[in-house]
Amino acid sequence: MAEIELHNLVKTYPGGTTRATDDVSLHVADGEFMVLLGPSGCGKTTLLRMVAGLELPDGGQVVIGGKDVTYLEPRKRNLSMVFQSYAVFPHRKVGDNIGFGLRMRGVDADEIKRKVAWAADLLQLTPYLDRYPAKLSGGQRQRVAVARAIVMDAEVLLMDEPLSNLDALLRLSFRAELKKLVAELGTTTLYVTHDQVEALSLGDRVAVMRQGRIAQCDAPTTVYDLPAEEFVGGFIGSPPMNFLTGTVAAGGDGALLLDLGAHGVPVPAALSGYEGRQLRLGVRPEAFAVGSTGPLAAELEVFEPLGSSVLLTLSLAGHQLKVQAPPTFRAEAGASLRLSLPADQCRWYDPETHLLLE
Ligand code: ATP
Repeated sequence: MAEIELHNLVKTYPGGTTRATDDVSLHVADGEFMVLLGPSGCGKTTLLRMVAGLELPDGGQVVIGGKDVTYLEPRKRNLSMVFQSYAVFPHRKVGDNIGFGLRMRGVDADEIKRKVAWAADLLQLTPYLDRYPAKLSGGQRQRVAVARAIVMDAEVLLMDEPLSNLDALLRLSFRAELKKLVAELGTTTLYVTHDQVEALSLGDRVAVMRQGRIAQCDAPTTVYDLPAEEFVGGFIGSPPMNFLTGTVAAGGDGALLLDLGAHGVPVPAALSGYEGRQLRLGVRPEAFAVGSTGPLAAELEVFEPLGSSVLLTLSLAGHQLKVQAPPTFRAEAGASLRLSLPADQCRWYDPETHLLLE
């Protein structure tokens, strides 16, 4: 195992007008599962490929296990990769596919057999070792690709959207299998995805990328609960965080309120510098309590029963809100509802920088 240190990685592709990665630094601890998450084109794959040695940076450093590997050939980096297109060899049986890398490395036959049996057992592929990949399901083929990567005993495992070719159900079951497997192996892992649920489910930490930079790198619960910038709150969560803009004014008792038309939401005293100025309030859809009591009055525009919850689209003094209610909640479109909002569920953002304030 080994830690990965990325220092100030800059990469612009030939002919590119913007940086694919823009001064990215990241530390992945020994044995950590780090997920790179972000929208298409934000630079996740470029970053992973620089760690793999498949792209060279214009500037910065890649250090694996304390060794500078920035310009080292991929095969000398002691890492394994699993790609989106599970590139298994169609003309080789499953067992041969899994042992392929070991054979190339000149490992002796008994050792290969032992390792292949171990990986096949871990990934529940033992019954399929003598089959050709064409006779496997997509999920089984993807497991072959993972097995082939883990037999190599690499210090670092790199995965680029390994679940994206699987259908939704298979993805769900394989996600849990993968999490269990990587936890057992304890290999330092860097995993690329644009799927926020996958990122939150798998990562010890999640690095959320935007336009070639890391917007936030934290534990899954932290990126969800305390988005460091509005972009993160808007990218993670389905539906995403609500953002409301209002002006901060002193109420009758002198306490600060965010004026949202007819309503006021208490503003922490620490933000008194914003009095008379605008402020952005971020609230997760499930943070509101909805019913017939509460200080905020809203009108129900759309009622969507989603099975495990009910999704409400509400209008609150001209602001549109998404609110998640318990599955038993019932109301008709057009109904007047009351909302309450616990102070500890409010996140405050500067309207210019869009950064979290406290
Ligand atoms: P996706 O999720 O769509 O794969 P990503 O976050 O992995 O996206 P990258 O593939 O790293 O993003 O791309 C980052 C930026 O670099 C994008 O603007 C992309 O168009 C550009 N880019 C990527 N590969 C090349 C290339 N080979 N030549 C030129 N530009 C490239």
